[in-house]
Amino acid sequence: MEKLNIAIDGPAGAGKSTVARKVAVELGLTYIDTGAMYRALTWKALEQGIDLNDEVSVGKLAYSTKIRLIRSLEGSLRVECDGLDITDKIREPAVSGVVSTVAAYPAVRKRMVEMQLAMAARGGVIMDGRDIGTQVLPHAKFKFFLTASLAERARRRWLELVSLGFNPDLQELVAQISARDKQDENRETAPLTVAPDAAVIDTGGLSVDEVVNKIVGLVTGNSE
Ligand code: C5P
Repeated sequence: MEKLNIAIDGPAGAGKSTVARKVAVELGLTYIDTGAMYRALTWKALEQGIDLNDEVSVGKLAYSTKIRLIRSLEGSLRVECDGLDITDKIREPAVSGVVSTVAAYPAVRKRMVEMQLAMAARGGVIMDGRDIGTQVLPHAKFKFFLTASLAERARRRWLELVSLGFNPDLQELVAQISARDKQDENRETAPLTVAPDAAVIDTGGLSVDEVVNKIVGLVTGNSE
């Protein structure tokens, strides 16, 4: 029997990765954070001083970079780029501020999607991103689109960054998230949109566990 795949899409800070990680544990699925892959490539481009407006150079870099997502037993995910652990570095504001420029290039997306499909080949994955239900796993059995107001998403990102030891400015985060959403929604290749067969969940006012229970309920057929 083909193993179940779940696609989770939505704008920045909607709670996708926290929720997906927990659903993965509950349902015994493999969690794949595709945003971390675009971030890893962006981090490397910045490290190497590559001009991010140079589409050809960034595209070439995508093909010469090895990105691995490594799961620990308790479910956390480490990100490796060419053998180097960059898990924390990819969350730095310098990366967040420009990742959508890198992610808009068709060659970059082609390479990332190839890697994502290889990771999902055996099935049994829950993958989060922007184009999972529309492009990467269009036949996923379950698709969810998580969303929340801009203010709520910025507040969550602020809390997340503080817990990682950063000192973010809330207003700057609002501006940055809103700019990133616009870039992700308006790019030509695989823009952020709701798949027609996705269940939309507004996570504003819901706890992480409430969202997780809702998704697990819908997947297992135990929703009220
Ligand atoms: O999910 P996260 O906020 O970490 O993603 C960072 C960026 O990577 C997004 O703003 C988007 O530009 C890009 N991305 C994408 N497609 C995906 C996942 C992420 O374009 N499937």
